[in-house]
Amino acid sequence: MVSENIESVKRNIYEACNNCGRDPDSVKLIAVSKMKPSEMIMEAYDHGCRSFGENYVQELLQKSDELPPDIEWHMIGHLQRNKVKYVVGRVALIHSVDTLRLAKEINDRSAVKGITSEILAEVNVAGEEKKYGFDTDSVMGFVQEVSSLKNIVLNGLMTSAPYVTDPEENRRFFKILRELSVDIDKKNIDNVKMRELSMGMTGDYKVAIEEGATMVRVGTAIFGARDYGGIS
Ligand SMILES: *Cc1c(COP(=O)(O)O)cnc(C)c1O
Repeated sequence: MVSENIESVKRNIYEACNNCGRDPDSVKLIAVSKMKPSEMIMEAYDHGCRSFGENYVQELLQKSDELPPDIEWHMIGHLQRNKVKYVVGRVALIHSVDTLRLAKEINDRSAVKGITSEILAEVNVAGEEKKYGFDTDSVMGFVQEVSSLKNIVLNGLMTSAPYVTDPEENRRFFKILRELSVDIDKKNIDNVKMRELSMGMTGDYKVAIEEGATMVRVGTAIFGARDYGGIS
């Protein structure tokens, strides 16, 4: 099941790249394994997946303890400052940095460990009320501030577009994120390199790729629907 799903997601990535003349190797597939058991992750692993995304710190740490050490973990969920100390040094990239205070905490904890942490700034492009992330107007200010923090590198931007039935509706949001990253890059700020655009989920990753995504975060299309057991 999981391996067939991965094959079909990879075919779609390949097709989307073909549609817009991109190299399929320029898009990283992050398999979002939140609320899915380690056995399923191992199925994906055995099929060649090495990058997994998790939303909850506890779950991420537990899985990273018991699964192979060559897995690259991506923190994609909302991160509280009091949990930063557990995550720093354990993940390849924190996608969901949404305040300067959080960035400072990641910086301080990284300094203590003598490492540099890679982060993305999460942007709430559609301005959805209940979503985390900077609004598009405040990203530039954040970027300027982050450049003075020596133990983090801002590697790009991340967004979660609204849930829609027609992915075309999200194209404009992906365009906005891409334009933002181009504007930021032009400023040549220390510690800031807009290498990554983390955008696109099960419902809209093909459109996101056409608009320049370098990382797509795909859960349901690989592991099936999640069972929130009544909580959401
Ligand atoms: C759960 C989640 C995903 C994966 O969503 P699917 O629709 O299952 O592909 C991607 N990004 C974030 C931030 C998530 O929380």
